[in-house]
Amino acid sequence: MPESPEVPPPAAGTVHEWLAVRPEGLLCLPGGFYIDPLRAVSSAVITHGHADHARPGNGDIYATAQTLAIMRCRYGDSCAARQLPLAYGERHRFGDVELWLAPAGHILGSAQVVLEYRGERVVISGDYKRQADPTCQPFQPVPCDVFVTEATFGLPVFHHPPIATEVEKLLQSLQLFPQRCHLVGVYALGKCQRLILALRALGYSKAVYLHGALVKLCELYEREGIALGKWVKVSEVGDIDSLAGEIVLAPPSALADRWSRKLPDMLPCMASGWMQIRARARQRRVELPLVISDHCDWPALLQTLEEVNPAQLWVTHGREQALVHRAQQLGYRAQALSLLGYEEEESG
Ligand SMILES: [Zn+2]
Ligand SMILES: [Zn+2]
Repeated sequence: MPESPEVPPPAAGTVHEWLAVRPEGLLCLPGGFYIDPLRAVSSAVITHGHADHARPGNGDIYATAQTLAIMRCRYGDSCAARQLPLAYGERHRFGDVELWLAPAGHILGSAQVVLEYRGERVVISGDYKRQADPTCQPFQPVPCDVFVTEATFGLPVFHHPPIATEVEKLLQSLQLFPQRCHLVGVYALGKCQRLILALRALGYSKAVYLHGALVKLCELYEREGIALGKWVKVSEVGDIDSLAGEIVLAPPSALADRWSRKLPDMLPCMASGWMQIRARARQRRVELPLVISDHCDWPALLQTLEEVNPAQLWVTHGREQALVHRAQQLGYRAQALSLLGYEEEESG
């Protein structure tokens, strides 16, 4: 994928006069649009396709073409009255406000929203990560006056190991238990496809078996040019016992439900940043927790803060207080917005 161009630093100034927190979400006052609104509005910019950020029923929506494709896949063609695609770096004017999108490195099509108004620049990161991910363009640090960040894993305890380390554990378990069907709980959008590519990168060339709920988005990724290798729907497997020793991917909810009981000697695994917390793994009866996240861990949040170097940091959701406190110690003006309604479940 092409490199993003260098971005010059913004002019100094204050911006909170023109960005407001409303029940609908974050509102750009002079532009008259919301970012990832929680309720239907007439004009919205959508950072990415996860359900807590991209909701149906808005008027105009601006997003990358991939995010719009994801929304159509999930909600149908009428997911919004008008869909307006923006390429990364393409500028769009809302009156005196200029808007452009920068890659966020979270999932396919994910974007940071960059707003420029009267010489000031605000960057709303949406969800993002700094680890390499071949399913999307890497996060681009954009220097700004105000950086609006999430803090899903905003505590010093959170460290996400490289994905290869975690996927290696899965492959070792398959060698150790060649008769057990390894069922891995994955979020349908992003985690599923990234895990498949990580298996391929480590040389796993056998078919990967998919729960039906994962199929549509895998097909969409393939249409967007991301080759996943051989995969088969579990529903199309004639002899279910032939799944002994195979990898089956399913939504996390399927780990505990009746669907998974038919699998031969099933070994429950789960890929999520939350798997670092033993209690969460136990809660889901996960025997093999894989710490794989599409969000920043604590060091990556601080690294990003240093690189973006904003005059102000606003923290939208997650564990805001620890990040706000550390940012203040480092000399930044920081505050928690405590936006409710952005769930961690779909994209942990
Ligand atoms: Zn997300
Ligand atoms: Zn989110």
